[in-house]
Amino acid sequence: MSELAYPYEAPASQALFDRAAAVTPGGVNSPVRAFRAVGGTPRFMVSGTGPYLTDADGREYVDLVCSWGPMILGHAHPEVIAAVQEAVARGTSFGTPAEGEVALAEAMVERVAPLEEVRLVSSGTEATMSAIRLARGFTRRTKVIKFAGCYHGHVDSLLAAAGSGVATFALPDTPGVTGAQASDTIVLPYNDLEAVHAAFAAHPGEIACVITEASPGNMGVVPPLPGFNQGLKDACAANGALFVSDEVMTGFRTSRAGWYGVEGVVPDLMTFGKVMGGGFPAAAFGGRADVMAHLAPAGPVYQAGTLSGNPVATAAGLAQLRLLDDAAYETVDAVSRQIQGLVTEALSKEGVAHTLQNASNMFSVFFTDRPVVDYEDAKAQESFRFTAFFHSLLANGVYLPPSSFESWFVSTAHDERAVQRIADALPAAARAAAEATA
Ligand SMILES: *Cc1c(COP(=O)(O)O)cnc(C)c1O
Repeated sequence: MSELAYPYEAPASQALFDRAAAVTPGGVNSPVRAFRAVGGTPRFMVSGTGPYLTDADGREYVDLVCSWGPMILGHAHPEVIAAVQEAVARGTSFGTPAEGEVALAEAMVERVAPLEEVRLVSSGTEATMSAIRLARGFTRRTKVIKFAGCYHGHVDSLLAAAGSGVATFALPDTPGVTGAQASDTIVLPYNDLEAVHAAFAAHPGEIACVITEASPGNMGVVPPLPGFNQGLKDACAANGALFVSDEVMTGFRTSRAGWYGVEGVVPDLMTFGKVMGGGFPAAAFGGRADVMAHLAPAGPVYQAGTLSGNPVATAAGLAQLRLLDDAAYETVDAVSRQIQGLVTEALSKEGVAHTLQNASNMFSVFFTDRPVVDYEDAKAQESFRFTAFFHSLLANGVYLPPSSFESWFVSTAHDERAVQRIADALPAAARAAAEATA
């Protein structure tokens, strides 16, 4: 690690990290927060306002993570905060139905045409887990196709790693996932329809569903090639399987109707999280009414949650969705394009091989000069350049996702001053990337 990578210390964050490490495995409650991919001290944040985060050492950063997507209106948006305060004063959980969850479901169904019915849960992981269970219960089949590099939360059967080649039965990617759980998962290369057709041919009548990120953002941003999602939908329809589109990241982010709104391919089931929760734990799965009718108590497939449809979370989510009109998406898309342009300019000036990819306002940089269409391509980049780039930006007050396999996120709050800070920080970061060695 070059000296350049750690230009300054973060003593207050380090002290908190040491305290955390004594009581929490690795000092964090979600692994990527620990900075293992880039090294150094994870910044403990104490507050967020608009496009800025402030850490325990009192340093302010322009935030390009936005809580991994949810904060599309920026931090502490006054109208979202007001809705939360109003809700919280009326009580934090009832364990009964309440109007807020109906209003949020109605807002989602109104925006996303294929979403006929929706069930609220508390995390994206729960949403995909439940959607898979429902797909299996509905089709009475066991196998699931997923794609290498697509993340669907830490559902046991979906943590299966990619084998190379077509229709490889995956081995568990992590201890604790049994061979049986993993062996019902077929992992295929992303953007490879032939592999999908071959898997259906090899397992006639066995495949319950194909699950894919609507437009992947968890291996960096790798959009579907034209026709890929439609091809998945058609293959599922031809083989009696369900097409499950995971919009936990893209939902209400890439457009008012998520990635569905961009591409128009109609899934059988969809999953949501992140933006729809307004910064609270709220997520959902839904889709075809005839499929959703199989869910308890209407049907036999069991699914439940003590805090599902929580009144504070649904108030935050609903307030955020209501503020996300066409103008808001235009603002986010425009600021995203502007930052993408600045990144391209800075890296080009230093002669750093890079490929910038986007799915509307989601984007990321790969340190390679070749287009990235699958996970193998993504892994072939020069990640050591990202490390230098990341730390230089961090030192100059710009907070990127601490990994080269993550999307960057912006918000309506990223104004000229915030963009200017990024513009000012980029030349040194590009130079650091150029000078970095493996
Ligand atoms: C974040 C994410 C999940 C998991 O959501 P959690 O709320 O972290 O459990 C699932 N799928 C996709 C596409 C995601 O980006």
